[in-house]
Amino acid sequence: MAPLKQVVSSEGLFDMLREAMKELPVIAPAERKDQPGFHHFARLQQAEDFVPDYVTTTLPPKKAFFQPSETLFTFTTDQPPALELVSDTEHFVLAGVHPCDLAGLDALDLAYSQPPAEVRWPADRGLATVVGIDCMPDDYCFCSSVGTCLTRQGCDLFLTKVDRGYLAEVYTPAGDTMLAKVRTWEPTEADIRDAEQWRERKVERMTAHLEADPAEIADLLEAGGLAHLWKETAERCYSCGSCNTTCPACFCFDMHDEFDLSLKTGIRRRTWDSCQLLEFALVAGRHNFRQEREQRVRHRWHRKFLYLYRRLGRAYCTGCGRCSRACTADINLVDVTNALIAHARKAADHA
Ligand code: SF4
Ligand code: SF4
Repeated sequence: MAPLKQVVSSEGLFDMLREAMKELPVIAPAERKDQPGFHHFARLQQAEDFVPDYVTTTLPPKKAFFQPSETLFTFTTDQPPALELVSDTEHFVLAGVHPCDLAGLDALDLAYSQPPAEVRWPADRGLATVVGIDCMPDDYCFCSSVGTCLTRQGCDLFLTKVDRGYLAEVYTPAGDTMLAKVRTWEPTEADIRDAEQWRERKVERMTAHLEADPAEIADLLEAGGLAHLWKETAERCYSCGSCNTTCPACFCFDMHDEFDLSLKTGIRRRTWDSCQLLEFALVAGRHNFRQEREQRVRHRWHRKFLYLYRRLGRAYCTGCGRCSRACTADINLVDVTNALIAHARKAADHA
């Protein structure tokens, strides 16, 4: 069913956040005080801190639900041990989420619901009212290549810039309640056209593209014969893990226990992990099943575009470009993927 549409003015958008902040914490993109010009999802202290036209954030909004490092529970070393869950039950608003990041949250919903299902993620997701907003790409964005340009999945309200403010699409009662706190207008044909033109301009301005769709990339990876490409990429890669830790669709984590000095109590922590780090595949007996850097680089592409594509029916890449922006070695995911597409197609032609 088509969502209800209303127009809200630019000031009205800030008023809406102001109203929400009277009742709930609001997490939204704001300029970093320590790095002017860069943005991050942070709890707003005042509605004016919200930056509606930001390009990207260094870390994706998944951190609002799953922090880079967090305590799951406390325990005692008694027999039997006493466990106490550490969980946040506060509702909040997550505002200013771009379509690619809505797709990232949706990807994690799917991944964490696979048996054995992760219990904390859906509980934390249920605490948030999510307000999406449309964006314009920079040179790293390629959402039109992976089908996430128009994602509205999982949002309660979605905003697109139009001439007289924002066209708001209402998807849930929670979104309706937020919008009902401010003055809105019925959209005119001109408002609807403005929003369509925004989406057209967004696709036209996208300069980065994958040269094949996710289904073909999966087939090409499966066909193999790309060892030289993994080797070349690995020769440049520092195994720093920044590509994974900035990715909205990566969901691996590590867990460890920390004891107090008495060894009578402790906490269990979980921390975002990266398959590009040497220790990721280190197991008992100091055996490492991806000891070589090229094995880890190969794994990254296979995981994103083949294994999870086959298992869950979607590429685990939303086209946000964060991994390429963050890469300390300037390894660009689009360039490497297009190189593998070109090579694999050539090899297939000569077979
Ligand atoms: S792989 Fe890179 S471009 Fe794709 S979703 Fe992750 S960070 Fe974004
Ligand atoms: S961010 Fe770049 S250098 Fe670091 S592990 Fe990823 S590909 Fe390698």
